[in-house]
This record gives sequence, structure tokens and C-alpha cells, in this order.
Amino acid sequence: TCGICVEKCPFDAIEIINLPQELEDDPVHRYGENAFSLYGLPVPLEGQVTGILGPNGIGKTTAVRILAGELAPNLGRHAEPPGWEAVLEAYRGTELQDYLGAVRDGDVSVARKPQYVDKIPDRFDGSTEQLLENVDERGVLDDLLERLEIEHVRDQDIDSLSGGELQRVALVACLARDVDFYFVDEITPYLDISQRVKAARLIQEMAEEEGKSMLVVEHDLAILDLVADNLHVAYGEPGAYGVITSPKSVRNGINEYLKGYLQNENMRIRPNAIEFEEHAPRVASRSDALVNYPDLTKSYGEGEFGLDVEGGTIHENEVLGIVGPNGIGKSTFAELLAGRLEPDEGELDFELDIAYKPQYIEIDQPMRTDSFLRSITDRVGSSYWNTEIAQPLQLDRIMEQQLTDLSGGERQRVAIAACLSETADLYLLDEPSAYLDVEQRVRATNAIRRFAEQQDATVMVIDHDIYMIDLLADRLMVFDGEPAVHGHASEPKGMREGMNDFLANLDITFRRDENVGRPRINKPGSQLDREQKKEGEYYYAP
Ligand code: ADP
Ligand code: ADP
Repeated sequence: TCGICVEKCPFDAIEIINLPQELEDDPVHRYGENAFSLYGLPVPLEGQVTGILGPNGIGKTTAVRILAGELAPNLGRHAEPPGWEAVLEAYRGTELQDYLGAVRDGDVSVARKPQYVDKIPDRFDGSTEQLLENVDERGVLDDLLERLEIEHVRDQDIDSLSGGELQRVALVACLARDVDFYFVDEITPYLDISQRVKAARLIQEMAEEEGKSMLVVEHDLAILDLVADNLHVAYGEPGAYGVITSPKSVRNGINEYLKGYLQNENMRIRPNAIEFEEHAPRVASRSDALVNYPDLTKSYGEGEFGLDVEGGTIHENEVLGIVGPNGIGKSTFAELLAGRLEPDEGELDFELDIAYKPQYIEIDQPMRTDSFLRSITDRVGSSYWNTEIAQPLQLDRIMEQQLTDLSGGERQRVAIAACLSETADLYLLDEPSAYLDVEQRVRATNAIRRFAEQQDATVMVIDHDIYMIDLLADRLMVFDGEPAVHGHASEPKGMREGMNDFLANLDITFRRDENVGRPRINKPGSQLDREQKKEGEYYYAP
């Protein structure tokens, strides 16, 4: 055993590579006998954005509850909690001493953006205006609403907002407060890239210009890289124990994480490195066409949203990445392919059977996960299904749970599994990364790729996480235009051309980390940014 579980290890699926040194010390907190233990705490610093990178269930919320003064740490002595004096003694001489002293005295105020914004409508009845009524302690509400482009939802009922709108309203509700310490548990789910970048800049400005302490958990690594000034990596075994490392530079922290090896800690957290191709992948030899479609147009009516589509070919067993802002017609295009919408111009002489995972997942049947999945496929439990679907999507531990009890990340995995379990001509996954932690994104990416290859399936993936799109897609389809007004869809293109078109629309360039080759967003106006724009190379090294 790893020394945590006294009896049979419930995590025997996870290989324990080496035991971290930290586990020989007392934890900061242990919930009970054989219950989750947390080792280490992040250090909130004034004027800095502190990032945390690590899987779900590793103790990030526990750490924040301690830093917010909601949970008195017990130093692992859950039977007889030692009290604050002992805690302060244990942290004497560390960076956290003063901070924890203030927590003990009740002098630390905290504002929080919860992880799962989808739950807000269940808890709040009323309009956006009413939700934000009492939060404007800094007198910045109008400015925040304008910068995040959600003034138009002020009078709308909270339960009529889209996920992306809810995400931004929740962010505003947190950032408008005037407190000592802000905790943002994920910035990006349901936001498109330009919305992600705007939200990240707002958070940075709060630290830089207002001197606030910001703590951010984020699984979109390009955005984490952009927003954070320093980084704690969290590792361990979700549900059993979590270790939060001392702060690292953001660049090193992310690089070590991707390599799967934490240098200072001498700790391997994953057997394999996650690798990116600096140069555009060679165009794979052409497989057969699944469909050819002509130029199309579709409008929802006079003065309503309209889309025009360049004709193109979708190949069998390819993963086609779909990128573009929210509200630009990506779902409309899928509806056309499925024959659920008739084009105004152009003719489709086929109707594809599409297995669809929507962006906002509503699975609220009072049913267990396993019964739900069995209702879709009789392959549940077969060895193919177990190794190719259940294992990479880590379904074992949730098969017997009620769908309604699942967390956001668990629902996402069940919804991806449900989609890939259907029999269809085309599999369309809309934002599969939402609420998955980084590790789960990598596993889901591998599962989707293998599925396409082994089942000769065609998969289209809409996602806003550049790292995920990079790892997943063979080719790209780029949507641009004016959201909610007019959209244009390009034909499917090679990765280099597609990325260049997409990023040129956004006016964002990426450079490559010289150590691991991962893409990093360039500072706007920096020398590299200007050079790359001039050369028209927004993403891949020429
Ligand atoms: P994260 O925020 O990284 O997802 P959490 O801090 O919420 O992780 O949870 C870490 C672990 O602690 C989870 O396995 C969770 O089930 C467990 N846990 C959280 N709160 C309690 C509690 N009050 N009693 C026992 N276990 C808990
Ligand atoms: P995306 O998938 O890129 O987010 P959609 O295709 O869902 O975009 O929507 C594009 C635009 O069309 C949005 O402004 C949306 O509100 C609008 N829209 C979608 N369905 C309808 C409809 N049935 N009637 C009118 N407008 C619609």
C-alpha cells in the first residue's frame, strides 16, 4: 500500500510511482480516519495572481476553505484538533505565518467564483441585476459588465442565461467585491478564446493595479500561463491525498507538469510527457470522403442570425477541429448536416446520423450512470467498451452513482461516453473540455483519437482550449464573423492554415517554449508578436 490506505487500496488502477517526501510530515488537514489529507497550502500574495494547477479532488477547495477561515486546519489530528495556536506555531517563520494569524483573528475577507456556474440558477431566482445588487463594493460594476460584454443580460432572468453568460456574471459578482483575497475556481468553461483572454486580463489588472491577492484554479494551460504570476502544482491521488507544492515560476510549473516530473520535489506524477508538435503535422494520406457538401446559406429569418458555409469535404476517420467564437453558427452548421434544418441556398442530398454531445449537459434523469449508458449501447461491460471508453474516461467509480449526484466533470465524462457509445455517421462533441481537469483532458483526447482510428469514425470537436484542439485535430474548420449577427464557415483546412486564419481573426500569436515546445500566447505588441504577424505565422514555427 502507499501508506495512506490501511487495507486494500481503492485506487489500485493508479500506479504509485514514488512516495512524496511530504507524506512523512504531518498534513495540514485530514478530514478523518482514512479520509482525505491535504499537504501544503498555496500562499496568497498581495498584487499577484497565484495559480494552482492540478486535478480535481486534490484538495484545492479544502485549501481555500482554510485560507478563508472557514475550516480550522487540524494538522492531521482529526480526533483532537489542536487549535489555531498550534497551527500558527507550525507555520512560524514561513510565508504563511502573518496570513494565518490574520485568518485566526477573523481579519481576512474572501470572495469566490464557484467552479460549477450551472448550479447558480438552481439557487437563485431573479434577474442578473438582482443577483449583482449587493456586490458592487468597488463601484466598478458597469465597467466590469462592459468589459466582459454582458451589459445586455442585466434585465434577463438568471435562468435564461447561457453557460458563457453565467460564467461571466459569476466572475463579475466575485471581482466587484472589495475583499482581501479573491478565489476564482476556473475562469474558462463555456467561454470562447477572446472571452477567456479578456477575463484573464481583468484578473491580472486586479492584482497589478489594485494590489489584490488573486488565487486561480485553471485547466486551460494557455490561459493559466497568461494569467498567473506564480504557480503551485497540486498532485497526489484524488480523493485520498493531495500535495500542494511550494510556488514555482509559471513557466517551469507548467513545463514540469507537462513533462510529468516535478523537479524540486523529485516526484514523477505521470509516466509519460505530454508533447506538442512545433511544426504543423504533415497532412495525412487522404482517406475516403464521408460527405461532400456544397456552399450553403441559412438564415433564421429577416433580421435574424445568418450563416454562410464554404463547401467542403469531411473525411472518414478524421478528427475535425471546429474553432470560432460563441454564437457564430457552429451548432447551426451541425443541424444542417443532420438534416434538422433546411439550407436557404445549396442542397444537401444526405442526412447524417449525428451523435451529439451538447455544450451544456442536461442529464437529470433519476437514474444510475450504468443504467443510463446501458440504455444507449449494449456494449457496456464488453472488453472493448471497458478499455476504450470506461477506463480513459474514469467511469468505474461513478457507474453506480445517480446521474443527479454527479459533479460537472463527472457529467462531462458520462456525456462523452454516451456520445461515443452511439452508432452514428458522425460524432459531434461540443466543448468536451468543460470542467475536465488537465489530466482528464489528456485522457479524453486520447480516447477520442483512438475511437476515430479504431472505429473508422468521423469526429468533429468544437473546443476553445487551444492545447486540446492541438492534440486532437487532424484538420480545422474556422468560423468567423459577428456573433449573433452573421457567421462564415471555412472549408476544412490543414492545421497550419486553419490555425493561422483562426488566430489572425483573434489577433493573437503563439510562440513556442524552447524547453518543451508548448504554445504560449505572445504579449500583444511584443517583438515576436509583431514579427509573426508580419510573416503570417500565428501558431506553428515556420
Ligand atoms: P478539489 O477542490 O481539488 O476538487 P476538494 O478540496 O473539494 O478538492 O476535496 C478533496 C477531497 O476531500 C475530496 O475527495 C473530497 O471528497 C474530500 N472532502 C471534502 N470535504 C470533505 C469533508 N467535509 N469531509 C470528508 N471529506 C471531504
Ligand atoms: P454556436 O454554436 O457557434 O455558439 P449557434 O449556431 O448555436 O452558434 O447560434 C448562432 C446564432 O443563431 C446565435 O446568435 C443564436 O442565438 C442564433 N439562433 C440559434 N438558433 C436559432 C433559432 N432557432 N432562431 C433564431 N436564432 C437562432
